[in-house]
Amino acid sequence: MRLLHIDNNEMFSKKIKKIVEDNDVVYISSDSYEKAYEIITDIKVDLLIIAEQIGDYSCKDFIEKLQLEKSTVTPVIVISDEQDYDKKSVYFDMGIMSYLTKSPFSNERFEKYIQTIKNDLSLIDELKYLSIAVVDDSSFSLGVISRFFNRYDIKNVDYFQNSYEFMETEKHYDIYIIDYVMPGFDGEDLIYKIREKNLDAIIIIVTGHESQKIITHSLNIGADDFILKPLDIKLFMLRIVSCIRQQKLNKENVDKSKLLFNMATKDMLTGLCNRNYFLELYEKKTSESIRSGEPLAVILMDIDHFKSINDQYGHLKGDYVLSEIAKILNKNLRASDTICRWGGEEFLILCSRTDKEKALIVAEKLRREIESHVFENINTITSSFGVTQWQVGDNQEKIFRRMDNSLYLAKLTGRNKVVFDEEITILQNEAPSNIEWGAFFRSGNVNIDMDHHELIVISNEIIRNCFLDHREEFTKILFDKLIDLTDKHFKNEEDILKLYNYEGLGEHKDIHEDFLQKALIVQKNLNDGDVNSVDVAKYLIQDMIVGHIVKHDFDFFHVFETDMNK
Ligand code: GH3
Ligand code: MG
Ligand code: MG
Repeated sequence: MRLLHIDNNEMFSKKIKKIVEDNDVVYISSDSYEKAYEIITDIKVDLLIIAEQIGDYSCKDFIEKLQLEKSTVTPVIVISDEQDYDKKSVYFDMGIMSYLTKSPFSNERFEKYIQTIKNDLSLIDELKYLSIAVVDDSSFSLGVISRFFNRYDIKNVDYFQNSYEFMETEKHYDIYIIDYVMPGFDGEDLIYKIREKNLDAIIIIVTGHESQKIITHSLNIGADDFILKPLDIKLFMLRIVSCIRQQKLNKENVDKSKLLFNMATKDMLTGLCNRNYFLELYEKKTSESIRSGEPLAVILMDIDHFKSINDQYGHLKGDYVLSEIAKILNKNLRASDTICRWGGEEFLILCSRTDKEKALIVAEKLRREIESHVFENINTITSSFGVTQWQVGDNQEKIFRRMDNSLYLAKLTGRNKVVFDEEITILQNEAPSNIEWGAFFRSGNVNIDMDHHELIVISNEIIRNCFLDHREEFTKILFDKLIDLTDKHFKNEEDILKLYNYEGLGEHKDIHEDFLQKALIVQKNLNDGDVNSVDVAKYLIQDMIVGHIVKHDFDFFHVFETDMNK
């Protein structure tokens, strides 16, 4: 950008030169209007700073001469020795950009003018790279507009005098300048046609009719701005430039809101939806499914022994595994499924229009994909799944608990497997691993926890004996011991719950009774030689541990919450 300063005051010229150059603008000076006129004849300048008076001459004649002989469009700032309102209005009538006084002289305001011109110039420069269509039935108007564009060296313009011809073109433009009143198709028809396919284009309506209704209607149906005839070059360019500026701002705002939305709803590491947003979507999707009567399933997935991946390979590698897993999930699930990073290495998937059978197929497919995926420099990674389908009477707590328990069972019975609705399957050749005592089982009451722990220890002993040692007699002895312990534990637990006034005590006693009955049947079968090791293990895990502790005892854990907080 070049600035021409016309003044014979050396001190003031120095001052302006410094500001201009500090703003990365080329400074050219002249101490008379005549010399300035010659300079303008030779080179293109982008801003004129003109002293209001040099010697006996006023700049008024000079500006008029420029406008008449050069039909200049260069913005002008007049600098006067004094504030004179009458003079000021005369200059503004001549179309100047600003009228400033030498003292006081505001550097900040002056710099702002430079910035505005700079911005406008860069937008006009951008305009050179955009495609423009002008549609107007008047050859005179087309001529005027084409002269305007030529003045700014804007060449990428197609001119249409015939609106039929325009309607036939398949070409998309960035900017449309459209006359409102035309024979054949008019401005309104054209706006509809353009907006059908092109929402981002800028549409400016040109009209000689100063009807407010035409203008508001055009804006309403998709025009961005309007320009009144007769056209003024400065105003014309300004409107186009301001539309581009507005469009940029809109785009920035859209980008910003997208960014904010992503930050609020996505997990940064994996790009999956985060827990909060998932819960929001969960509510929406379940209500939709319930209303439409379509099935809905949830799948909770947890990477097996992830802690040891971190320990062995470092946290960064752990992060890499998490993002790879997210990719596998994205690749293998439908767009209608919602995938969430539920916690550290836990992922929750909500599958719309999916019943039990389909959900099991999906989970099994994911399990296999993960197991067979090659993670850089890491041996096989496996994962466990808990799956359930929404059923009548479910609330979020119930369905999530079924899903959680199912995942837990998958972990308890060897990992790298899918469990649906808390129902385990144990195969003869697949010895279930040790049931791990963990925080998951803690009720908050020391006595109950000690009992539960003891039950798990003896269950593990039985399982080990069934699958590894195969000593029938020993299994029987252990099982007798288990029944003994269970009986004592149930009495103990009932006494404690009575002390805590647990409201579900009656019901819980019945459940205990049922369990004991079932245990006695297994014991009898065992003694009669009617039961195999898989059935025993299944009973221990499915009924004893999960049925008893996980499914039913969890109901009363809350009564000890106040104890835990002490
Ligand atoms: P299990 O098979 O029983 O699920 O064992 P596990 O080791 O996977 O489970 P555990 O809950 O004991 O450990 C989970 C680990 O996940 C602990 C935590 O440090 C790690 N973790 C959680 N979030 C991130 C994360 O964003 N990046 C990494 N690298 N590790 C994480
Ligand atoms: Mg895990
Ligand atoms: Mg119990």
